[in-house]
Amino acid sequence: MTDPHAAILDALRAACERDPANGPLWLHYGEQLARTPRAADAIAALRKAADLRVEPPLVLRQLLPLLREAGFGAEALIRAEQCLERHDDPFVRRELAIVLREKGEDQAAAHAYRAARAADPALADADWDAWVAGIPEAAPSAPAPVPAPVRAGVAGEAAAPAELLERFEAETPRVKFADVAGLAEVKEQIELRIVAPYKTPEIFAAFGRKAGGGVLLYGPPGCGKTFIARATAGEVGARFVALGVADIVDAFWGESEKAIRELFADARRHTPTVLFFDEFDALGASRGGTESQFWRALVTQLLAEMDGIGGPNEGVLVMAATNLPWSVDPAFRRPGRFDRVVFVPPPDEAARRAILTTHAASLPGGETIDVAKLAARTANWSGADLKALCERAAEGALARSLKTGKVQPVAMDDFTKALAESRASAGEWFATARNHVRYANEGGRYDDLEAYMKKHKLL
Ligand code: ATP
Repeated sequence: MTDPHAAILDALRAACERDPANGPLWLHYGEQLARTPRAADAIAALRKAADLRVEPPLVLRQLLPLLREAGFGAEALIRAEQCLERHDDPFVRRELAIVLREKGEDQAAAHAYRAARAADPALADADWDAWVAGIPEAAPSAPAPVPAPVRAGVAGEAAAPAELLERFEAETPRVKFADVAGLAEVKEQIELRIVAPYKTPEIFAAFGRKAGGGVLLYGPPGCGKTFIARATAGEVGARFVALGVADIVDAFWGESEKAIRELFADARRHTPTVLFFDEFDALGASRGGTESQFWRALVTQLLAEMDGIGGPNEGVLVMAATNLPWSVDPAFRRPGRFDRVVFVPPPDEAARRAILTTHAASLPGGETIDVAKLAARTANWSGADLKALCERAAEGALARSLKTGKVQPVAMDDFTKALAESRASAGEWFATARNHVRYANEGGRYDDLEAYMKKHKLL
């Protein structure tokens, strides 16, 4: 017998897939999932609703407790602070208090709890009341001061623990631009902004240009932002250190600015190094938030390091990536920082052919697959979608192999079936992007995205 609740969830999921830009629908689906043990699926659905800008407090009331319980404390904190900048929601504020307390920011946690309780007495909790009673109230009109950036080697200051550095894993990638299919314009921009100033600084100096500053890559998920950053390191024979911004927060809570300083100091000691900051939007709204001075300290430190406070940045190549460029703090876009913001689009047909060829080649029988046909039918699919398509097709051949006990080749039929069961993931991203391009394209910031969307009839 089928479970009626499961049938409802299936129907909701199908509806969301048919109408992926429908935020309220994702919210409803997420709410239903949140009542089941499927926390990961609920989080995924509610994140979509949040990204589609559905009434933030409504989404966050569901999402924040799930995130906390699943260990995504930093994300819960970022989302709560972003929401509270515009919507004073007591429930979200109480959630913020819980995360801050978990992170050891007692004063800020108590402050948030008191504010939540004052706004909605129903949120009062005896344990919390007892706890906050022991924590003095900070002066209400005194927002936490922005700490000064930490300078390297200041007398009397303890050296950052060596273990900080050990957590940043460096690699020396072998992939090069040639391994990244398509993206000719993105490669050209990186060449001009990052590779050439490093390789031929004298030419840039002759034009009064200094090396330094970074490139911020943005675009739908899975289209190769991380891949091309690694390939940039491969091109210049540099070390590559990749960090998720939220990971820095979770791993170095309270010590993040030291971690950032040490990260840059280490990169200056081992030039050339590509420092790649992923999920850069996480730093977006943080400067405005006063709940956690720690966030602002992190942003201040990162900006100061990019400005060269800790030493010259020649040979320190800074790249960052985001799916949400509209959330990135404008302070990062000033000259000498991320003054180049580059759109990384989904692969074009030739690039899709190349990506499919690479992945098919690793499968038994892959050489018989008509990749040109598949490429023609996958407009707007991301590189990651195409990789997933190949994996799904391979499952068919794997199942046959297990049944017969002999390796069976993958066939075009496996791909056709996989294609019918999959779809491009970038649709939702473009749905969100549309509003930003239409209403917030100040200074032509999203001109390249706009051109792409017009060309592909997405606008
Ligand atoms: P996210 O925003 O989710 O972090 P991303 O844009 O950084 O995504 P990647 O992680 O770089 O995307 O890409 C995912 C995978 O898709 C890569 O490991 C690679 O296998 C494949 N891929 C994406 N774009 C390309 C491309 N242009 N050429 C070859 N492979 C690609």
